[in-house]
This record gives sequence, structure tokens and C-alpha cells, in this order.
Amino acid sequence: MPRAFITGITGQDGQHLAEFLHGKGYEVFGMVKGQNNPKFTAMRDEFPYVEPVPGDLADLPSLVKAMELTQPDEVYNLGAISFVALSFNQAELTANITGLGVLRMLEAVRMVGGAQNNPIRYYQASSSEMFGKVREIPQNERTPFHPRSPYGCAKVFGHDITVNYRESYDLYACSGILFNHEGPRRGLEFVTRKVTNAAARIKLGLQEELVLGNLDFKRDWGYAGDYVKAMWLMLQQDEPDDYVVATGETHSGEELVSLAFSEVGIDDWQRYVRQDQKFFRPAEVDLLIGDPSKAQTKLGWTREVDFPGLIKMMVANDLRIESAKR
Ligand code: NAP
Repeated sequence: MPRAFITGITGQDGQHLAEFLHGKGYEVFGMVKGQNNPKFTAMRDEFPYVEPVPGDLADLPSLVKAMELTQPDEVYNLGAISFVALSFNQAELTANITGLGVLRMLEAVRMVGGAQNNPIRYYQASSSEMFGKVREIPQNERTPFHPRSPYGCAKVFGHDITVNYRESYDLYACSGILFNHEGPRRGLEFVTRKVTNAAARIKLGLQEELVLGNLDFKRDWGYAGDYVKAMWLMLQQDEPDDYVVATGETHSGEELVSLAFSEVGIDDWQRYVRQDQKFFRPAEVDLLIGDPSKAQTKLGWTREVDFPGLIKMMVANDLRIESAKR
């Protein structure tokens, strides 16, 4: 039975990946931070097969211990301070966890290593936010980075140090440069889920308005369930490499809102939406659109859920959750 170790198990991608790897017959270990993590307690019933392992990306000894204890074949480093807005307020924490945390994971992997004929394979969760003020459209694996947030800067460090450890120590280490991916498990702080949840609540009479920041931005949005498959595929290749994972389509903030509201039968969404400067980013990422050709050609990866399908799925989930609260 192959063994997988996942950091960020309580996050959106950690849950999708655990489900996917369990389906493939893996033994799944999930790193849980804190002494009584309420998010992990909440997911226990849905994921009884995930073996919790204590640890924190700020604490190298805990990561080494986790590697020694679990002896994984594959490590997926998904843990991070991942919310861009928070990274502006807590830049040092973001640099420590999202940036230096990667170095600590790589060190733990290098120190423990895995069996000699079967070294640990490492996946790093890089991000399209590294492209920031984009230098070309669409963005691919060779597009230069220009991050526009402390989060983006920390991810650039994490990405570069992963490449450096691969080249310096011959680690099987891959970076997936993933564009935005969403789904019913997305945290409520993220704009897609904030919008789908508000559309559901407004429809049910539980909320009167939705307050957002800038709506002019454009993103390449996919479904998280499709993207975790690409992570796994990267670790099944003969040679480690970096891949952009994206849909190749871009949609505006306005399209997102309009689609979510029309899913609940509201066509005049402008009546319910107000913009507030406090939700504007100090520096915005205007146009993200990825070129997934390499992942499609070399990994054979394709996405299954399109943008309208994704929003439909998220709104249906929020309607179900919010109706149960009434
Ligand atoms: P998420 O839902 O925000 O989950 C983040 C995870 O990181 C949580 O499990 C959190 O644990 C954990 N974490 C935070 N601080 C930690 C620490 N000090 N030590 C260990 N774990 C810690 O993020 P996601 O959407 O699943 O994304 C997964 C990864 O992909 C992240 O690295 C993210 O930056 C990256 N990424 C995401 C997207 C996207 O669109 N979703 C796109 C590109 C890249 P707690 O719950 O205990 O706080």
C-alpha cells in the first residue's frame, strides 16, 4: 500500500486529495497543527481513513518527526497561509509559513529521504499569484514572476527553493503552478465561495446584501477535484518537473456574481451587491490566464468541470447548507 503524507489536510485541496488518494488505495497521513484543531475534528467523520500526525510548518523538528513516523512514498505540501488579503496584514507570518515552511519541508524530506531505491517524491503547491503583474498572456512554466502580494512573494520563494533542492540534491521534487481552483469545500473567506454562499442566503431571505471589493479582476477558475489529480500525476512521472495547471479560460468578477445569482433565479444582482474599498487589495492581480498545454501533453491531464458547472455545484451546495440552518 503506497503511503502519502499531506500538509494542509484541513484545507480545501487537502480534503480533495485525501479522498482521491484513498480511492487509489493509498494509506493517507494528514499533518494537523495545534493541540485540538477544530477543523480536523469537524472532518473526522467524512475522512475516517486519514491518520492524523501532529506538526507545524513553523517547526522543523515536528516535520522531521512526521517524516520518520510515516515513512511516506509521496509528500504533498499544501499547507500555507493561503488567503492573499490576510497576507497583506500578516506578511511576516505568511513569509514564515508559506515561504520558509517549504524550505523546512524540503529539509525534512532530504534528512529522512525514504528508502534508497524508493526516495520520497515531493509536491509543492505553487500558485498563479506568482505571475501577479503578468508579463505575458497566457502564463506558462517559463513566464517570469512578478508577485503582487506577500503571499505571492512567499510562493515565489517556495517555488524557487523547490527547484533549487531538486537541482542541488537530486530530490524528486515537483512544483504545480496551480491557477485558482474552487469547489464546495472552499473557505468562506475566498471570493467565489463568499459569492455563492451570499447568493444562496439572499435567495433564502437570510441575508440582504453582498459586500465585495474590486469586480474588474479576471481569473482562470477550475474545480479543485480536477486539480488534485494533476498533483498526483506529477509524482508518477519518470522525472520531476514543474507544471502549470489551469483551464486556459478567464472570467471576470462580474461574471462570477452574475452566474451565481442567476443560479438562484436572481437576474438583477446589482440590486444586492455593494462595493467597499476595504475589500480592495493594495496591489491587484488583473488578468490571470494559464496555459495548461504541458500538463495536458505530458501528464495527460484534462479538467472535467467547466466554469458554469463549478458555480452551479457551489451554489447547490450552499443552498443545501443554508436551507438546513433555517
Ligand atoms: P486552504 O484551504 O487555505 O488550506 C490551507 C491549509 O494550510 C489548512 O489546512 C491550514 O491548516 C494549513 N496551515 C496553515 N498554517 C499552517 C502551519 N503553520 N502548519 C501547517 N499547516 C498549516 O488552502 P487550499 O485552497 O487547500 O490550497 C492548498 C495549497 O495550494 C496552499 O498552499 C495554497 O496556497 C495553494 N494554492 C491554492 C490555490 C487555490 O486556488 N485553492 C491556487 C494555487 C495554489 P489549519 O486549517 O489548521 O489552519
